[in-house]
Amino acid sequence: MKFYLLFGPPGAGKGTQAKLLVEKYGLRHISTGDLLRKEIEKGTELGKTVQEIINRGDLIADDTMIAIIRSEIENNPQVEGFLFDGFPRTEAQALALDKMLSERGNEVSDVLSIMIDDDKIFERIKHRAEIENRKDDADPKVINQRIETYHKKTEPLVGYYKKQGKYREIDGAGTIEEVFAAISSLLR
Ligand code: ADP
Repeated sequence: MKFYLLFGPPGAGKGTQAKLLVEKYGLRHISTGDLLRKEIEKGTELGKTVQEIINRGDLIADDTMIAIIRSEIENNPQVEGFLFDGFPRTEAQALALDKMLSERGNEVSDVLSIMIDDDKIFERIKHRAEIENRKDDADPKVINQRIETYHKKTEPLVGYYKKQGKYREIDGAGTIEEVFAAISSLLR
């Protein structure tokens, strides 16, 4: 079973590319952001906590995220592969994922990293705010907090996956089609 990770800062276009990739390659798309937003919609206790944290621009607790991913993997035994979008986002999450997969005799296949610089992140998220109506996209202070959280907690994973020889970087500054072509050529 294949386990691809879509990596990159907020607003890099992970969600957009994920939708195209699952169509072409028949992978199961797991977006942790979408799963969390569904939890908010349900109005559960977890959803209320999650909403507060997302609207601050911080990350949800590692244990919560790891449990969500574990159940997604267990509940989809028949798929050919997964495309994780937005997970892992911390070193603790990456370590837990490696452990979870090795217990099943699997491993991360490739890390597909869509890179853009901070100015572009800001621009993209502001543009998305006009289309998608996400509260965490609307406030420049929250956008900056998310960028800072990315650099502090998520970016160290670049080194983590480079060491494993699994890190593949794609320039995310191009058009949707250009970025998709670049990722597709890596996946063959
Ligand atoms: P973006 O890529 O634009 O930041 P996402 O939809 O992937 O948007 O995530 C939205 C928010 O959900 C994040 O800012 C964070 O608060 C939370 N989140 C998503 N995935 C994770 C994760 N793996 N660990 C912790 N928090 C997460």
